[in-house]
Amino acid sequence: RWTRVKGRLRSTVGEDVYSSWFARMDLERVGGESVHLSVPTRFLKSWIQTHYADRVLSCWQAELPDVHRIDLTVRTPVRAPAVVKDARTSVEERLSEHEHRPSELRAVATVPVSASHEALGGSPLDPRLTFATFVGGRSNTLALAAARQVAEGRRGDNVMFNPLYIHAGVGLGKTHLLQAVTWAGNSADRKVLYLTAEKFMYGFVAALKTQTALAFKEALRGIDVLVIDDLQFLQGKSTQAEFCHTLNALIDAGRQVVIAADRPPSDLESLDDRVRSRLAGGLVVEMGALGEELRLEILKSRVSAARTHHASFDVPLPVLDYLAKAITHNGRDLEGAINRLLAHSKLNSTSVTLEMAEREVRDLIRPQEPRRVKIEDIQRVVARQYNVSRSDLLSSRRTANVVRPRQVAMYLAKTLTLRSLPEIGRRFGGRDHTTVLHAVRKIEALVSKDIALSDEVELLKRQLQE
Ligand code: ADP
Ligand code: MG
Repeated sequence: RWTRVKGRLRSTVGEDVYSSWFARMDLERVGGESVHLSVPTRFLKSWIQTHYADRVLSCWQAELPDVHRIDLTVRTPVRAPAVVKDARTSVEERLSEHEHRPSELRAVATVPVSASHEALGGSPLDPRLTFATFVGGRSNTLALAAARQVAEGRRGDNVMFNPLYIHAGVGLGKTHLLQAVTWAGNSADRKVLYLTAEKFMYGFVAALKTQTALAFKEALRGIDVLVIDDLQFLQGKSTQAEFCHTLNALIDAGRQVVIAADRPPSDLESLDDRVRSRLAGGLVVEMGALGEELRLEILKSRVSAARTHHASFDVPLPVLDYLAKAITHNGRDLEGAINRLLAHSKLNSTSVTLEMAEREVRDLIRPQEPRRVKIEDIQRVVARQYNVSRSDLLSSRRTANVVRPRQVAMYLAKTLTLRSLPEIGRRFGGRDHTTVLHAVRKIEALVSKDIALSDEVELLKRQLQE
C-alpha cells in the first residue's frame, strides 16, 4: 500500500519534486486515523509540512479513506563522515549537516574548489516562469508592477525601492514573479542572480568549508540584482549574519535586492531586529489569494502552453470554469489539474469532459477550509482548562499559575492563527512582540521534553480546531 501511496504522490507532484523531497520519506506505521511517516532531517520535515502536507494526506486518503492525520517525525540522524561528500549529496543534506554539527565546519579544509564555484551559480530557473506567462490580476497588480520596474532597470539606475519584498502564501506566484525578474533583468552588462534561501545557505556553508567564504561574499557583492526566494527558510546564526552583511553591502552600493517570503518581515521571527527593519525599509508588497477570474486566466494560459506540444489537447470552457471555481487555494493545484487532464486525455486518447475533470481532480478540491481559530477562543479555552480567568491571562500578573497558561495561549495563538507576533501581543493585554516570541519559544522547548505538557497542548489544539 505504501508503494501505491508513493506512486500517487509521485504523479501529483512530479518526478523532480518527488525525488528532491520525498525519496527518503519512510513509513513508520499506520494506526487507525493516523499515519506515521519519517524523514531524515528537520529541514525536510518543515519543508514537507509547509508545502506538501495536504498532498501527502490526500494521497493516503485515496488508499485509506479513514486516515485523517499524518504525523511526520525526524529519524535519528545517521552520522556522516566529516569530509565533504561527493557532488550527488543533496543541498538539503549538507544543510542539515551544518545544522547538526556546526563545530566541524571549520575543521574541514581540503575540498574541491569547484564546490564553491558551483555554489555561486544561482538556483536553476524554470524557463516557463516569465512575465509572458504571468497573469496579472487584482491580487498582484502592485507586485507585478514593481517586479517589472526592477527588471527593466539598467545598471547604475537609481534604485526606487530597495529591497523589494514580496510576500504571499504558498502557490500564489512568488517564485514565478521572481524568476520572471531574473529572466527579464539579465543582460550582458547586468547580472541578476536568483537564489533560494537554501541555496544561499548552501553557498555560504560550502564556502566556509573550502575557506573561500571571502570569495563567496565578494562574488555576491558583484551582482547587480540579487533575488532571494523563500527567505523564511534561512536558518542558522552564521548564515543569517552573512545574509545581513550581504544585504547591507548591496543596498548601500545601490544594487537592487528582491526578496520573497511567505510572511511579512515583521514575522520572520528568527531574524534579528536590524535585518527585519532593513527588509521592511524598502517596498513591502503582499500578493493576495488568486481570485476566480485570475484562476480562470491562469488555467487558460496553462492550456495554451500545453497545446504548443500537444495540439490536439483542449479543455472546453465549462470545464475550465468548473476548475476555476472548485480549486481555490493555490496556483500549483491549477497547474496540477491541467497536467492531469492532459495526461489522462493523452493516455486514453479521449477528449476532456466535465465528468472526467470532476473525477481526476477530486483530491485537489478541499471540502472546506480548515476552521479559522480566533484568539478569543484560544483565551477562553485555555483559561477554562487551567482554571484561571480570561482577564488573568490578559493582566500583568506574574504568578506561576497564570504565567504558564498565558504562555500556552500565546503559543497557540501563534501556531493556530495567522496573526503576527505584535498583533498577538496587542491582543494579550498590550504586550510586546518579544514577550510573545519568548513565550512561543519557551513552550516549543518545553513540549519537546515534557510529555504531560505536550499532551495538554495537543488536546487544546484539538478542542480549538473542532
Ligand atoms: P509560490 O512561489 O508563491 O509558492 P509559485 O510561483 O510557485 O508560487 O506558483 C505556483 C504555480 O502557480 C506556478 O505554476 C505558477 O506559474 C502559477 N501561478 C501563480 N500565480 C500565477 C499568475 N499570476 N500567473 C500565472 N501563473 C501563476
Ligand atoms: Mg515559491
